[in-house]
Amino acid sequence: MADVMLVTGASRGIGAATARLAAHQGWAVGVHYRTEAEAAAAVVDANRAGGGTAVAVAADVAAESEVLRLFDTVGGALGPVRALVNNAGSVGQYGPLEELRADELRRLLDVNVVGAFVCAREAARRMSTAGGGRGGSIVNVSSRAAVLGGPTEWVGYAASKGAIDSMTVGLSKELAPVGIRVNAVRPGLIRTDIHDAAPPGRLERLVPGVPLGRAGTAEEVAEAIVWLASDAASYVTGSFIEVSGGR
Ligand code: NAP
Repeated sequence: MADVMLVTGASRGIGAATARLAAHQGWAVGVHYRTEAEAAAAVVDANRAGGGTAVAVAADVAAESEVLRLFDTVGGALGPVRALVNNAGSVGQYGPLEELRADELRRLLDVNVVGAFVCAREAARRMSTAGGGRGGSIVNVSSRAAVLGGPTEWVGYAASKGAIDSMTVGLSKELAPVGIRVNAVRPGLIRTDIHDAAPPGRLERLVPGVPLGRAGTAEEVAEAIVWLASDAASYVTGSFIEVSGGR
């Protein structure tokens, strides 16, 4: 039977590309989404059309009870999770510090940080060799913003990804003895719907600062994610891959 990968936020963008590539490489895929049921169903259909197995499950990753149901549903349909891609996320409020709204920042941290932690916990409970699991891997989707800081635009978002970076380092050490690798990718400017939250033209304004001279694609990020999740990366843990065109 195929190993099972759960990709959060797989209805669109980087998550959808990851779910498609993983199916192509033989994974059974849990396609998690929050609101975009039709888009998630299209990813599942594409995976099945290619001969793979997939199931779509809705959940708000900020709600712990929904994450528990997500893992139980994917496990029941496909078998125990062997890889988790912690990809679901949003950018939150755009603008400088003086316009910050605390409630919006709290919501962002609930989704991007607490959600990722709870998903990691549920994956580790199932994968840990100490608990009878087969081991596995977690790939966290961070951002180059964690390093660049997002000044005047998205410092709260950048900080949420900084938390993901620390989590990656810490959990890689904590979970190595129980057979679980933990790594992250830091995408740069990737052409997805997430940029709809910014004023129009932001991507075009920033592209001249990208050494490779263009925005990246979700498929280019998916290549790094699926490699990190796979046994091909069996000696890689606590590592970060920048998928950012050199920016
Ligand atoms: P996207 O196209 O906007 O997709 C976001 C995905 O996350 C969607 O599947 C969405 O589900 C899901 N999601 C959002 N809030 C959620 C919540 N509260 N609970 C559950 N799912 C939720 O974004 P993307 O660009 O592919 O981004 C994916 C990841 O890459 C994010 O973590 C983002 O921070 C990171 N990243 C992106 C870029 C970039 O330039 N695009 C750069 C660096 C890092 P629904 O569609 O069902 O609502």
